[in-house]
Amino acid sequence: MKFAGYLENKQPLVWKTFSHAFASHRLAHAYLLSGEAGAPLKETAFFLAKSILCDHPDPLADETCLTCTRIEHRTYADFIFLDGEENSIKKDDVQEILGDFSKTPLEEKGIMNLFATEGLEPDLTLFFDIKPEIGLARIAANSGREVNRLDVEKLSFHNQVRSAFQELAKRFPKRYFTIDASQSPEAVYQAAYNEIKARLKSCLKRCRRRNACCRNKRSS
Ligand SMILES: [Zn+2]
Repeated sequence: MKFAGYLENKQPLVWKTFSHAFASHRLAHAYLLSGEAGAPLKETAFFLAKSILCDHPDPLADETCLTCTRIEHRTYADFIFLDGEENSIKKDDVQEILGDFSKTPLEEKGIMNLFATEGLEPDLTLFFDIKPEIGLARIAANSGREVNRLDVEKLSFHNQVRSAFQELAKRFPKRYFTIDASQSPEAVYQAAYNEIKARLKSCLKRCRRRNACCRNKRSS
């Protein structure tokens, strides 16, 4: 059962408050959730975060889109989770979060920006595309590799991430260059090298042309 179902049936007051707040676009800047031991407070907080960022809110989170999934897995860059159960929340933690509020968000809704770009866009994004099944099998076969948080995600998550990047590659065909990463490492390297070299060449040509223009202007 989705968490929305639980909330609607077991906590109808909370459900109503949230539904009304989202439907009328009147969210408070903070919510304090309190309940008896065992009450799903963390789940409620996560659900609230999903509802704010969900790709298809109605008016609350659908709990199935890529953004909801990433919040659930804590891989959404602008979602910060401080667990007071694991560690006591210190003043420094709060100050760090306050500092984060003033920064540019790392995420654009529905689009994964894995790096803080400060408003700059890369000239070239190499997209190493591979079926998640093949990628995960390669990871499993490589016993010396340190396991990271993404390795343990379900196949459905990896498929969603792949679709999001394929969508970005379609949307920005000039910037994105897709490389079939199921090839041998040498072939993948060669494809990346050729593309970077070709881009640098045309970039150099443009610079030279521009310089020539500048010189012409100065001499005229
Ligand atoms: Zn969603």
